[in-house]
Amino acid sequence: MNITLNNGVVMPAVGLGVFQTPPEATVDAVATALETGYRHIDTAAAYFNETEVGEGIRRSGIDRSEIFIETKVWISDYGYEQTLHAFEKGSRKLGVDQLDLFILHQPLPGDFDKTVDAYRALEKLLEDGRVRAIGVSNFMPNHLTALRERTSVVPAVNQIEVHPYFTQPDVRKAGEHLGILTQAWSPIGGITSYRGDAAKSTFSNPVILGIAGQHHKSAAQVMLRWQLQLGHSVIPKSVRPERIAENFDVFDFELTPEQMGALELLDTGVRGGPDPDSITLEAFGREIPEA
Ligand code: NDP
Repeated sequence: MNITLNNGVVMPAVGLGVFQTPPEATVDAVATALETGYRHIDTAAAYFNETEVGEGIRRSGIDRSEIFIETKVWISDYGYEQTLHAFEKGSRKLGVDQLDLFILHQPLPGDFDKTVDAYRALEKLLEDGRVRAIGVSNFMPNHLTALRERTSVVPAVNQIEVHPYFTQPDVRKAGEHLGILTQAWSPIGGITSYRGDAAKSTFSNPVILGIAGQHHKSAAQVMLRWQLQLGHSVIPKSVRPERIAENFDVFDFELTPEQMGALELLDTGVRGGPDPDSITLEAFGREIPEA
């Protein structure tokens, strides 16, 4: 299943995420996903596994042109020249000349000038054909408005936390209004398990499990299907081959409007990730090594 971005570039809706995938597990996870049928990988400079993502892609034997590669600039590399250089670092680690989607990992609300300079570098990379699409992540409606006032290219995606416990209707609506695709991170609510109480995570939720039972599917598959029916791109992460396959097996069933509505009612309004307004270089800065 593909999604056409606002600049006409076609992106596979389901990608493999690799946040917290240790470098030594990344080559296998990426190669397994590609063998399973995935054609989209989401990584980031700050995941410190871009080199291994590149290796996994080469190991799969699948032609580079068939794979959609998405990565992110970390805040420590924001600024016009720094972000141009961040592209060189990332693309060299991945072993490719061109990226399919290059996004800002976070807004820096306390230093928005730097965020704007970083985005202008993305615009330059787009203009020069070094990247096929550009976007943002963790931008709230006010950050999107501020960015749009000072830059020309509408971001193709906003990658944000979305799962049944945290659905961010305002951000999704703001994106829809501007023509920005919502790409869900933690799309199966992994963060409600690895940063929360596993017994109360999305995977243990009785409503989700009830719907899963009706379709003979798993909780993860129901959440991914819900996201796809909402029109979102999803990037579930796993290092286990059976789960990598399970998370891709979501195209043979359809949730009813009642089931979609029941999932939407699980929203708690509580995010699992950091508040985007709390992101500062002092608290979150990390050096991104050269390639
Ligand atoms: P996910 O919702 O993808 O959940 C991943 C967690 O759930 C892992 O602990 C995984 O464990 C487990 N899991 C995976 N598949 C299943 C399954 N079928 N059944 C039960 N458990 C399962 O959460 P993430 O937070 O990892 O988000 C996905 C991706 O989104 C990241 O990898 C990254 O690419 C991106 N992301 C972006 C952020 C941003 O700020 N832009 C922030 C966070 C994530 P195991 O590996 O052992 O299977």
